[in-house]
Amino acid sequence: MAANAEAVKANQNAEEPEKKKRKKLGLTSRIFIALILGLLVGVFIHYCVPESSIRDDVVVEGVFYVVGQGFIRLMQMLVVPLVFCSIVCGAASIGDTKTLGKIGVKTLCFYLLTTALAVTVALGFANLINPGFGVDMSSLVASDTSSVGEAEEVSVIDTLLGIIPTNPIQSLAEGDMLPVIFFALFVGIILAILGNKTEMVHRFFEQFNDIMMKMTSLVMLVAPFGVFCLLARTFSNIGFEAFIPMLKYMFGVLGALAIQCLVVYMILLFVFARINPITFLKKFISVMAFAFSTASSNATIPLNIETLTRKMGVDRRISSFTIPLGATINMDGTAIMQGVAVVFTAQLFGVPLGPVEYLTVIATATLASIGTAGVPSVGLITLSMVFNSVGLPLEGIALIMGIDRVLDMTRTAVNITGDAVCTMVVAKQNGSVDLDVFKDPTAGSELNEARPQMS
Ligand code: ASP
Repeated sequence: MAANAEAVKANQNAEEPEKKKRKKLGLTSRIFIALILGLLVGVFIHYCVPESSIRDDVVVEGVFYVVGQGFIRLMQMLVVPLVFCSIVCGAASIGDTKTLGKIGVKTLCFYLLTTALAVTVALGFANLINPGFGVDMSSLVASDTSSVGEAEEVSVIDTLLGIIPTNPIQSLAEGDMLPVIFFALFVGIILAILGNKTEMVHRFFEQFNDIMMKMTSLVMLVAPFGVFCLLARTFSNIGFEAFIPMLKYMFGVLGALAIQCLVVYMILLFVFARINPITFLKKFISVMAFAFSTASSNATIPLNIETLTRKMGVDRRISSFTIPLGATINMDGTAIMQGVAVVFTAQLFGVPLGPVEYLTVIATATLASIGTAGVPSVGLITLSMVFNSVGLPLEGIALIMGIDRVLDMTRTAVNITGDAVCTMVVAKQNGSVDLDVFKDPTAGSELNEARPQMS
């Protein structure tokens, strides 16, 4: 948990200088402006600038290509160490489960199952609306940063066996994500079991995790240039055709998030906790609004715990354990975005996905959710690991990045709702919910006035 608190601090620190120079635009606005400018410049070049070697070789395939690919490589550079450290730290914090015994294990299983369900909903919904059909972007893929069409035929059994690394160092070096995650989980769990004996190694990983978070926020500072160049190149080559899939992608993510939140969670609450989902939603909406505006699960932890405890009558001993754990390892909304992004990019770049690839995506996105820190935009970094696992080109992320902030806000609201739903189910089954408080519409109303503390 300490690692995450530091992570939030690191993230906030990166944005602090911007706050001081009050007139300067925030990173999100700059990325969004870069998206619009990239789109306009690309469309302008496509329709208004006649073909010439200056246009094609120097600008589009020269400057735009080099800067865009440089940015993609920076993002790729972060993936392995970032995911490895944050999974080790996340798994090590599960050491707390000892104090809560059965509840800890139940919570963990619930978190993993709901995330796997969330990716499945996302893959299903995305295949219904086909966000990436109609435009062929396969020509825009850089030869050395992707592996379109390289996905070999591998059986389900081999894929499952492949999760266990024969040589973890080789898996790290090759960026083979499932074995890396497996090994990281193992290291983290053993750190938790050994406790004080391995405190130094635990601290090393927490501090390395902080370094990676800081590096991520620094790399994100050049994101506007990367996004501008990647989009300008895309639109110079394809023109307006590329715009429609982006809108469809947004619709796909928002639709799947709505299904998870309003259908899946409500059914889980009704079936497993036997409580009224409408009452839950009414009491919980302010927490969702807070998560939406901060785009950070971590920042929402205090308000989430207080709401569950004071408005819904959950025993604080349970909520103060399950909510921070959920904000660290349970990201259903992020997994949904990643599922839709996979289908979107595969369709856009003509990469066929079979049952083995879908299973791989479900497994990788579920595990990536453990490696996603509860701060803004990290879901985009771990997305590249999901893409790598099925050989998708990372260029797809550039298209998504410019419109990601609003999706980040929405998926964060779903992330923390998933944590709260799990808490309600586990607490109710444990007889740890005061139903009088849950049914009382005025319970905890003082929270509506109080401003939660950001930590
Ligand atoms: N912003 C998300 C969260 O804090 C993580 C992400 O998907 O980027 O829950």
